[in-house]
Amino acid sequence: MSTLSLHSLTKAFNESAVIRDIDLEVAAGECVAVLGPSGAGKSTILRLIAGLEPASSGTVALGDRNVDGVPAERRGVALMFQRPLLFPHLNALDNVAFSARSSGKSKRSSRLHAQSYLELVQLGDFAYRRATELSGGQAQRVALARALAAEPRVLLLDEPFSALDPQLRGEMHSLLRQIRRELSPTILLVTHDQHEAAVLADRMAILLNGTIAQIDTPHHIYTRP
Ligand code: ADP
Ligand code: ADP
Repeated sequence: MSTLSLHSLTKAFNESAVIRDIDLEVAAGECVAVLGPSGAGKSTILRLIAGLEPASSGTVALGDRNVDGVPAERRGVALMFQRPLLFPHLNALDNVAFSARSSGKSKRSSRLHAQSYLELVQLGDFAYRRATELSGGQAQRVALARALAAEPRVLLLDEPFSALDPQLRGEMHSLLRQIRRELSPTILLVTHDQHEAAVLADRMAILLNGTIAQIDTPHHIYTRP
């Protein structure tokens, strides 16, 4: 896993800046949560890092590599959204193997690899279940396994648990904490949920009108006004 560095990152749509001159360093293995009201620019930051949208100015670097001209599929970034977006006609294993395959593994090794990631998300026994036959919580676990199986340099999570009920959300929080201990992925997590940010992230960044208004550990955010 790599560091993620944003330097003077700016994005304007129709001459109106939605991301303004953002500097941010996420250390290898760190999890930073981005919190902020709707329209603050949270999803836009993830889209710029993933290369789904070109920046107006500034740079995105992964490790010591500037990825500004690099197309999305070659950045080594995995995204996970509120909805799992699995291929409905494929089973859980093939959904996960597909992403392992796109990172260059052979068919056989990507299936073995996929099985181990399904076990990591505690769905080892559901490998041959079609995506359409999984519950919402199971599908979201498969989506997490798929993102991890790509072995990305950075994992970008956009409101990944906000469609789940409180109990499932709590289970996903425990799972993500376990994955952080075992694999130490570098994570940028967008969420509306302050509790989620505080339990999952090493630091919280508060985004207001396209700029980081405050960034600190959860402890300092809540104890230093
Ligand atoms: P958040 O994720 O914090 O809700 P977004 O990043 O989705 O915020 O959006 C930030 C602002 O940028 C919003 O005002 C949104 O309408 C605007 N925006 C996002 N994408 C586009 C686009 N492709 N064209 C024009 N405006 C956009
Ligand atoms: P969220 O609130 O979850 O960030 P949105 O519904 O704001 O998501 O945006 C969903 C998609 O629509 C994104 O791809 C975003 O870039 C695009 N989008 C958002 N606002 C606009 C806009 N004003 N004009 C064009 N595209 C937009």
